[in-house]
Amino acid sequence: MALELFIPPCVHNPPHRLHSPPPEQPLRIQIQGPLESIHKLLPNELWHPIEPFPQPGGLKLATLTHWALYGGEKADDALAVRDEYLAWAMEGRRPLNHIDYYGVTFDHLVPADDPNPEVLALSIIEVDNDGGAFANKYLLFPVDPTEYTGKKVLVVPRCCQVKKGTQDRERCNSLVAERDNEIRRSSRR
Ligand SMILES: [Zn+2]
Repeated sequence: MALELFIPPCVHNPPHRLHSPPPEQPLRIQIQGPLESIHKLLPNELWHPIEPFPQPGGLKLATLTHWALYGGEKADDALAVRDEYLAWAMEGRRPLNHIDYYGVTFDHLVPADDPNPEVLALSIIEVDNDGGAFANKYLLFPVDPTEYTGKKVLVVPRCCQVKKGTQDRERCNSLVAERDNEIRRSSRR
């Protein structure tokens, strides 16, 4: 059974401007996390073998995230998926043939010619495999894993994480630009 993608309220008062984002604002959204947690959200998706960009599960993850942020219709074809991030599982220093961490970037109302939209970075936080140790170290609020196990998957915007993410916008937008160039190059071949 799929678990709910759960974004808790902002710890700041007043809440950070993009937590939750105003629906009318153009925004580039990046979500990433351990495949172990993504499996709980999308138990029927296969992530092996890796397909050309984007992974079918990436589109599903983007749709789920868009729905958690904005509600409305869950229609995957309406979303502009702009980039993805694959982290290969390692055995020592040798990469294996599958991934253990995945991220996807998609646009909400971003005009096609805007190279530098605002970016919201979201992290999927695994709480089951370490009793919440990672969550309690890297988030600005306490996490009780028993609230999540078997029920929901914790997703946290950058404003509620210890990491400040001052480079998020620049990094995310330059990765999208690189991806666009790559797609253009391969379509010319
Ligand atoms: Zn927040």
